Amino acid sequence: MTSAPISNQSNPAWSRDELVLALNLYLLHRNGLPGVNHPDVLALSQSLNLIGNATGVSKNQSFRNANGVCMKLNNFRRWDPSYTNNGRTGLAKGNKDEQLVWLEFANDPERLAEVVAAINANVQTIPASPIDLSAADDPGFFEAEEGKVLTRVHRVRERDKKIVKRKKEEALKQHGALQCEACGFNFSQTYGADVEGVIDVHHTKPLHTLQPGDKTKLADLALLCANCHRVVHSQRKWLSVAEVKERYQANLKQIQM
Ligand SMILES: [Zn+2]
Ligand SMILES: [Zn+2]
Repeated sequence: MTSAPISNQSNPAWSRDELVLALNLYLLHRNGLPGVNHPDVLALSQSLNLIGNATGVSKNQSFRNANGVCMKLNNFRRWDPSYTNNGRTGLAKGNKDEQLVWLEFANDPERLAEVVAAINANVQTIPASPIDLSAADDPGFFEAEEGKVLTRVHRVRERDKKIVKRKKEEALKQHGALQCEACGFNFSQTYGADVEGVIDVHHTKPLHTLQPGDKTKLADLALLCANCHRVVHSQRKWLSVAEVKERYQANLKQIQM
């Protein structure tokens, strides 16, 4: 058996998950960036390779090696006011997601650390878990700012057939019908009793709290029509069910005026 040829393609651009992990390390060592032999750099390189293997993008031996990690840490310099305020400039090169990730997380290192812990915990279990990072993204469902790993964990949880069935049974028992919790849409009333079960289930827990092995509770789930569920996931900063409901009601009022 011959081993797969090592590709000479250049390494792919850093994904959002990778940038989130790298920014966390950058902020920990902001005042003096670690070198290629630093244990934190090596640990990050290892995590990135786990993700790279799971997504199928780590085709080169040099994929996210210690050198690459150190380069990326340097890339964050140019977005860091505590560095550039002194008249220094960081490396000019880098991808534009660095700035977005910086803007979203750099001023909230606590939240960032929680997101990083959740990504790492879930990445460790990937080979044995139902999270498939190599599958194509669901069309219309935007990857969250917390990245692909936690987005996929969310999607796996809200598509768990058993818990979805129990959620619908509970709602039917309580309310006698399945209605969208954001807009009130009622499938059976509109289309007939035989389509009663046609409604999406959305997992409401914040992504940074998703730990592997957690049991989904019925209270963690919300029933949403396909439209409202799409709206929740229609941008990088996912909307809450309450926000979608508010928008729906505010616009409804305008239409009625
Ligand atoms: Zn709806
Ligand atoms: Zn959802």
